[in-house]
Amino acid sequence: MRLILLGPPGAGKGTQAKMLNEKFGRPQISTGNILRKSIQEGTELGCRAKVLMNEGKLVQDDIVVGLIRERIIEEDCQNGFILDGFPRTINQAEKLAETLNNMNLSIDAVVDFEVSTEELLHRLTGRSTCSGCGAMFHIASCPPLKKGICDSCGKALYQREDDNRETIKKRLEVYENETTPLREYYRKQGNLKTIQGSGSVEKIFSKVCLMVS
Ligand code: ADP
Ligand code: ZN
Repeated sequence: MRLILLGPPGAGKGTQAKMLNEKFGRPQISTGNILRKSIQEGTELGCRAKVLMNEGKLVQDDIVVGLIRERIIEEDCQNGFILDGFPRTINQAEKLAETLNNMNLSIDAVVDFEVSTEELLHRLTGRSTCSGCGAMFHIASCPPLKKGICDSCGKALYQREDDNRETIKKRLEVYENETTPLREYYRKQGNLKTIQGSGSVEKIFSKVCLMVS
């Protein structure tokens, strides 16, 4: 199972990737999470990525492609992986195809989540994330039982620095310009599967499972 989850910020890629990981045991590879970890650790990579991420811009292709190349050769990726937030440009997709080709591997499916811009804005502006387990909450549609505390693991919730109105607008714009051409790219290869990304997380998950198994 080698999957790509495609779709705008706030489409639910991370949530579905986490659930797929729990069900199928394939690792979730999120370039966003890897970059945020580097920022936290204060590495050189983190410092370079931070400014761009906080402005809602993409990190350079070479950097993220390098991260992915290192990650997919690890032991736990042997039986597949779930790419969440990568590729985000045609160039990244081409580099990925080249890398997989050299390993005699290919992508099985690209799941594209469709959600209206209005809904995306609503989701992202009220979103908070658990610092411990990565679970996501929303002030209106999915509030934690105790304010600021994760229901699942009890750690503190935080708001991502790029989850503010101005940066969200920029991220959506960048998505439109840089990432939507990937739909055509994968449609032509015959493995694009489009899914309605609004509705309950569980319903969407069962649709995703039908598509990928
Ligand atoms: P979202 O999809 O909700 O915007 P992510 O966690 O996937 O959240 O990404 C957050 C930020 O990390 C992006 O706005 C971008 O700056 C950077 N980033 C993540 N993945 C990539 C990628 N494949 N290419 C370039 N930049 C990336
Ligand atoms: Zn948690």
